[in-house]
Amino acid sequence: MVDAQKKVWRDGELIDWQAATVPLMTHSLHYGVAVWDGIRAYQRADGSSQVFRLRAHLERLFDSCRLCFLKPKVTLEQLTEACLETLRVNGLKDGYLRPMVYVGEGAMGVYAPDNPIHTVVLAWRWAAHLGAGAATSGIRAKISSFARHHPNVGLTRAKMTGQYANSSLARAEAKHAGYDEAILLDVQGFVSEASGSNVFLVRKGVLYTPDLASSILEGITRDTVIALSRERGFTVAEGRITRDQLWTADEVFLTGTAAELVPVREIDNRAIGDGGVGPITAELQALFAHVTRGPDTAHEHWWTVV
Ligand code: PMP
Repeated sequence: MVDAQKKVWRDGELIDWQAATVPLMTHSLHYGVAVWDGIRAYQRADGSSQVFRLRAHLERLFDSCRLCFLKPKVTLEQLTEACLETLRVNGLKDGYLRPMVYVGEGAMGVYAPDNPIHTVVLAWRWAAHLGAGAATSGIRAKISSFARHHPNVGLTRAKMTGQYANSSLARAEAKHAGYDEAILLDVQGFVSEASGSNVFLVRKGVLYTPDLASSILEGITRDTVIALSRERGFTVAEGRITRDQLWTADEVFLTGTAAELVPVREIDNRAIGDGGVGPITAELQALFAHVTRGPDTAHEHWWTVV
């Protein structure tokens, strides 16, 4: 349950959280063409509040808009300021930001190029995405019966609301079968991603992750983990991955803004490695925490002070 906050930023104004509702004829509500991004602000070791990789997230949001023919009325610079303002006004030093661009009321056919385009920024506190013990004990995952989007059916690069029906159904299926999370394959049967995070495996000291042609969202945490792993001296290979590579991996973990780094201890009732949190996963979790919460100072270009 998300706690109500004070204010929401909408089209240049701060409005009360409770008043920030949408009319039932909102076009995006009916057809699923709206885009958003998910960003985290951290209260760091020095006490400051900073947003992690804000520009990369907002660039991805504008790319998502372009892919969906949405023309936001704000610039990237204005939206940057809106994100910071939303955190400040809600007193969130540590929180999750969700800028969203959606199509408002007007024409009701699927093609409605003249309907107004609205931009909002929501912010709230978000605890561990996959449950309290996920980061320390790992989770149990299931290969989903739902495939990830085919590039000619949906948009693999856009963080579009409608695409999350696929995530939502896959997650529900996994939960109903007694697992914590779903890992989806692409339509050709290669590993793609989890319902809201990217997948990595470790085998004989090398990290592997599906490439951008495997119907994945180009995760910013994925990019961060690749960069930190390489800085640390690990080899990271991006490519096609089969599900039996996951089953025989020494370690598997998921990455995402909300999830951060979550170890996967079991997939389809097969223990991964010795069924605990692997040493490289644990090291990368610690490195990620060192960078995000501090006291790391080597990646200042990733930060925007609130
Ligand atoms: N894949 C999907 C489907 C997601 O929803 C997310 C979360 N935004 C990710 C991957 C991870 O992306 P990021 O690390 O940028 O949050």
